Amino acid sequence: MPTAVSEELNVYESAEARFEIAAEKLGLEQGLYRYMKYPEREITVYIPVALDSGQIAVFTGYRVLHSTVRGPGKGGVRFAPDVSIDEVRALAAWMTWKCAVVDIPFGGAKGGVICNPAKLSKSELERVTRRYTAALSDWLGPERDIPAPDIGTNDQIMAWIMDTYSMHVRQATTAVVTGKPLDLGGSQGRKEATGRGLMICCDKAISKLGLKRDSTRVIVQGFGNVGSEGSLLMHQAGYKIIGAADVNGAIYNENGLDIPKLYDWVYHQRRSLPEFAGGERTTAQEILFRSCDILVPAATENQITSQNAHRVDCKILCEGANGPTTAHADSIIEKKGIFVIPDILGNAGGVTVSYFEWVQDRQGFFWRESEVNERLQDVMEHSFDQVVRYAEAHSVNNRIAAYIVAIDRVARALKLRGFYA
Ligand code: GLU
Repeated sequence: MPTAVSEELNVYESAEARFEIAAEKLGLEQGLYRYMKYPEREITVYIPVALDSGQIAVFTGYRVLHSTVRGPGKGGVRFAPDVSIDEVRALAAWMTWKCAVVDIPFGGAKGGVICNPAKLSKSELERVTRRYTAALSDWLGPERDIPAPDIGTNDQIMAWIMDTYSMHVRQATTAVVTGKPLDLGGSQGRKEATGRGLMICCDKAISKLGLKRDSTRVIVQGFGNVGSEGSLLMHQAGYKIIGAADVNGAIYNENGLDIPKLYDWVYHQRRSLPEFAGGERTTAQEILFRSCDILVPAATENQITSQNAHRVDCKILCEGANGPTTAHADSIIEKKGIFVIPDILGNAGGVTVSYFEWVQDRQGFFWRESEVNERLQDVMEHSFDQVVRYAEAHSVNNRIAAYIVAIDRVARALKLRGFYA
């Protein structure tokens, strides 16, 4: 029997709860509702890999294709010890809604391998990646399903996926994966894209609330790709980043942290974030409850729950991670009058530039970074406006508005396609 807490922390339940509210408000027909609720395909693979010690380990991997209604499946691959099929299923559905919110022609998918990448050598990681890709090679492809980085994976892993897939289909196929290195058909601006997208949303939100960048205090939980690039860009743009955190802990400084130095400390000197000298030490959990103007949870799921949401003290909650707020916490955050930029909008900058990367790979013609950023800005601003306008016109919160905009787009495409029998 699932307890109330385990149910709250099950991301699939969280994703489903929002889908159900939005579908009901939209008056979605029962048949369409059922079609969209379930994924198209779930694959489990068992990946035998020879470790450096000579022993054979068998890893479990997943790829869930939630929807191909609006285009090929799109979504990252996560390498983490706590990956589960429920999590991958939720993340795949979120990718469908995310791509639809920003109106890019993809469906949704997600993959994961249960492993701890920090404990694997580079060559073990390469063998896990290649065997996982080989096992999925019939289902991946530029027109089928296109992976990208997520927690625990990076551009090198994308390069191995590209190479393995290309060997299987016997031709170099850069467009099978995004988030690749620049030398291998990657896009300018992809590395910063999720952080840039967050900042564009924050810019829109502060102007709505009558705040100015230089007096806006920001706390960012998470210093992986999204949190670190987002903090750096926001710091450069004039925001005051007063708190930062990663898995090891957090630092806080009410006068603002020197983010370029912190970035150098973590990424070039390879030191532990909470040991950085420029601030007071606290925990990655506690940093969420310090007073600020913008709180950016950019780490992982289930950070803001029904147990702690009352302690959140910000004006804007901009979600960089997927699913950082549980469905049970939504009403508490709403009652506090916090302006929410939900994950499927807030972190959609990453997949938007993944779309640009796929377009560039397919046309074999690459854009300047300024062109990528300009197009990203256009997509994010337009999507933000659509969601907020819908929320205001229909008196729903921003999260439900984002789901409604997305579900409506998928439903319209589905009706046009009809049902193949
Ligand atoms: N993993 C990222 C996300 O959750 C990026 C997905 C992509 O670029 O396909 O949005």
